[in-house]
Amino acid sequence: LTFLGIESSCDDTAAAVVRDDGTILSSVVAGQTELHADFGGVVPEIAARAHAEKLDICVERALSDAGLSLSELDGIAVTAGPGLIGGVLSGVMLAKGLAVGTGLPLVGVNHLAGHALTPRLTDHVEYPYLMLLVSGGHCQFLSVRGPEDFTRLGGTIDDAPGEAFDKVAKLLGLPQPGGPAVEDAARRGNPKRFALPRPLLDRPGCDMSFSGLKTAVLRQRDELVAAQGGLHEQDRDDICAGFQAAVADVLAEKTRRALAAAPAPVLAVAGGVAANQTLRAALKAVAAKAGAEFIAPPLRLCTDNAAMIAWAGIEAFNAGQRDGMDLAARPRWPLDRNSAPMLGAGK
Ligand code: ATP
Ligand code: FE
Repeated sequence: LTFLGIESSCDDTAAAVVRDDGTILSSVVAGQTELHADFGGVVPEIAARAHAEKLDICVERALSDAGLSLSELDGIAVTAGPGLIGGVLSGVMLAKGLAVGTGLPLVGVNHLAGHALTPRLTDHVEYPYLMLLVSGGHCQFLSVRGPEDFTRLGGTIDDAPGEAFDKVAKLLGLPQPGGPAVEDAARRGNPKRFALPRPLLDRPGCDMSFSGLKTAVLRQRDELVAAQGGLHEQDRDDICAGFQAAVADVLAEKTRRALAAAPAPVLAVAGGVAANQTLRAALKAVAAKAGAEFIAPPLRLCTDNAAMIAWAGIEAFNAGQRDGMDLAARPRWPLDRNSAPMLGAGK
């Protein structure tokens, strides 16, 4: 089977062609960072218009990079949510048009399922496994037992860690996206100089909180500014190191609990924050202690892309899913039907 995948639920427009043996024939991602840079966040109207403009081009590029025409495909998978509704709608409408025009089957994919199934695409991981999805918009543990069988074990009750990295960078005058900038500063910093909190570690379960950590950074910065009239580079680096260590500690301890609650032979991560080396090392150690293998897909497949959507579409198709012209674009769409509304999902 060969599927076209289409993704437009946040601020990246993407298309990809993927085969059911895990071969990625093409993967095109067009970002919008520059479009939103002046606004300090993703502006839904601008995102929707950019998706509408770029989708056709991305699909054409994905097909030509793969060296295939539409008629040589076996199906079309599209992100049908959750996300910014304008972007999701653009993608779903394009996918419907292509499906009608070609007679190919259409499969609507949950964006989070795309992330959660990526370790199967990249590393042929077998079910079941534990997934930590940790990005700018999401933070949750999923026990993955099948292409449509997800149990949410816990997640953030406020900010996602990537969001916290971005806000901390802003507070300290570092560039966006904050994750790489904070990680770089932290390399020169002392993580022990400032005692930053480890929110919710004293409470049982796998839920997390990161907004208090950001407030603690703000307070620490203001204290230093009041005492010495400004921040030295070393102060900034030490705060970054302390903040990063706190995030890693919280995620590591909660991951340990998630693995205890839902034992699995593999711990996998996805999301932009999974690029963080300190975090990776901490998670790897937790996995090793629990006797689990640690798997982190390559970064370009950890962040938003359409290869994961094509792959999730293939898995859903093989499980019998077919969608019609009534496929809806959903701004909210929890993966785990038993879960409470996903706090902290979306920005
Ligand atoms: P989502 O896909 O969940 O809607 P998103 O598009 O913001 O959210 P990603 O593209 O997966 O998420 O990741 C971007 C986030 O990852 C940003 O918040 C960024 O700061 C963070 N990030 C990237 N690299 C690092 C790093 N080395 N350390 C920590 N955070 C990082
Ligand atoms: Fe995503």
